[in-house]
Amino acid sequence: MTIALQDTSADDSLAFKRLPLTPAMLANLEQLGYSQMTPIQAASLPAALAGQDLIAQAKTGSGKTAAFALALLNKLDLRRFEVQALVMCPTRELADQVTQEIRRLARAEDNIKILTLCGGSTMRPQIASLEHGAHIVVGTPGRLMDHLDRGTLSLSALNTLVLDEADRMLDMGFFDDIVTVAKQCPKTRQTLLFSATYPEGIANLSKQFLRNPLEVKLTTQH
Ligand code: ADP
Ligand code: MG
Repeated sequence: MTIALQDTSADDSLAFKRLPLTPAMLANLEQLGYSQMTPIQAASLPAALAGQDLIAQAKTGSGKTAAFALALLNKLDLRRFEVQALVMCPTRELADQVTQEIRRLARAEDNIKILTLCGGSTMRPQIASLEHGAHIVVGTPGRLMDHLDRGTLSLSALNTLVLDEADRMLDMGFFDDIVTVAKQCPKTRQTLLFSATYPEGIANLSKQFLRNPLEVKLTTQH
């Protein structure tokens, strides 16, 4: 199914309080100045929060991070000190931005541990952090593969896999790495794919790793 969105001006249908979020999360969103959902959030969050797989296509700056971050945070069980969500990003810079945004959105929840695993940093501190445990991992494909190969990262408790900026990851030649990582995730997980464009490789990934995904495409400039 594809939802094509028209231009939307401020109205109640964009209120975060329409979503099944905790009062603490709603209060935090208000504090952050997120007064209403962006169009991509309004189109994707109801399905994402319901556990459905998703392909979301919208331009840069449209608020895609919160669209997947709220979904994965909502499912997080803090008592389980295991990696429950993995976000794959094309670059260290983007991984850092995603980590920052998840931290802002998670402020209402105490003690969430998020690890950023990217190439260019030494392995040893990353391995030490992984030994201490984490709830969420954000990283680039090459480094995630390194940790999986060494057995320092386990994805056996994962319930959400996010492919952020999937088109850029494909441009950078990460298709095989994404496939390898996705194959190590439990089959019952939710998979959320975000992209600014929809090249052939995205359809391939989707066919292999997404289950009956809702496709959300923003057709207007926003
Ligand atoms: P994208 O991933 O689509 O490029 P981002 O997730 O980086 O976009 O969001 C762009 C900016 O918009 C960020 O600074 C983010 O904090 C802000 N933002 C996201 N959602 C909202 C919202 N509902 N209300 C206000 N600002 C928002
Ligand atoms: Mg983004």
